[in-house]
Amino acid sequence: MFETAGGLLSIDLSIIQANYRRLCDELNGKDCSVVVKADAYGLGLEPVSKTLWEAGARTFFVALPDEGVALRHILPDADIHILGGLFKGSADVYTTHNLVPVLNSLEQIQDWQNRARADIQVDTGMTRLGIAPKDIGQIPSGLDIDVLMSHFACADERDHPLSIQQIETFAQAVQQIEHKRASLCNSAGIFLGEQAHFDLGRPGCSLYGINPTPHTTNPMQNPVHLQGKVIQVHEIDTQQSVGYGATYKLHAGQKLATIAVGYADGYLRSLSSKATVYVGDQAARVIGRVSMDAIGIDVSGMKCEEGQYVDVIGPHNTPDDLAHWAGTIGYEILTSLGRRYKRVYKG
Ligand SMILES: *Cc1c(COP(=O)(O)O)cnc(C)c1O
Repeated sequence: MFETAGGLLSIDLSIIQANYRRLCDELNGKDCSVVVKADAYGLGLEPVSKTLWEAGARTFFVALPDEGVALRHILPDADIHILGGLFKGSADVYTTHNLVPVLNSLEQIQDWQNRARADIQVDTGMTRLGIAPKDIGQIPSGLDIDVLMSHFACADERDHPLSIQQIETFAQAVQQIEHKRASLCNSAGIFLGEQAHFDLGRPGCSLYGINPTPHTTNPMQNPVHLQGKVIQVHEIDTQQSVGYGATYKLHAGQKLATIAVGYADGYLRSLSSKATVYVGDQAARVIGRVSMDAIGIDVSGMKCEEGQYVDVIGPHNTPDDLAHWAGTIGYEILTSLGRRYKRVYKG
């Protein structure tokens, strides 16, 4: 195949559907919404949200009103909610596009003036967005509340005392405020068990293959495959250094391949000399610094030729693996995936 991009990014939509069904199973009959903020975590709002709609998802969460407007054009009948709240002065945007704001403060409740149904977020311990439990009594009656929600701070850590406390605080709020659906669980929360589920799950990362249970085997599958193009192969005959800063020395007899993927593509610079790329089934270490448009990998003893592709992200080096090598989280790897790759959607 003749390709002129530095990387081929393939996203398997059937895996995203399978992950959705896996989460529905885990919720055991409770409803499951989906979070598609930040361009569906970097994987593409349009194909991903259409695929989730096809799989049966009806309630969609995004962060920003802009994202809600974009999603409204893609899914005219979806139930779309805006996690970031009611942006000051823009209530008309929500009304025009039938977007449900998550009201995060008493002031937002006032600004909404009962235009239509809205969500309410109670802050049970994340201290990011939401109404403090002590202010619940000040929520005016007569508000048509759809989703009453809150968000976990530490659900990905097993038996964290804050999670237990948040479940208790939220359960009290559920008693105090009239609402249609109660929702507490992000991906990791869904795996905390039934007492955390309430009426509606709200997963994001796990749909896209990130492990919601980092302390144990990933129950989700990875839909992302990123192949990088080999654009030069160097047979080393005398000792020499590799890349900016000359941080790594190659010895005579070693072989280096240059791959056309760099930090401008979201291949984080902190992966320098840390990550592994796969040439077929063989592991090849990234050596030297990641540059803007390229990385070097050690392919000594391997068959590796100009023009071929290597697995930059794949079954042996998942987004979670890259995150581990880079000192970050899989979310940041996915949402950093670059714009220069040729994108292919499968399934
Ligand atoms: C992003 C987000 C989610 C989804 O979280 P994941 O950890 O990706 O499953 C759910 N709820 C809120 C409020 C969020 O901001």
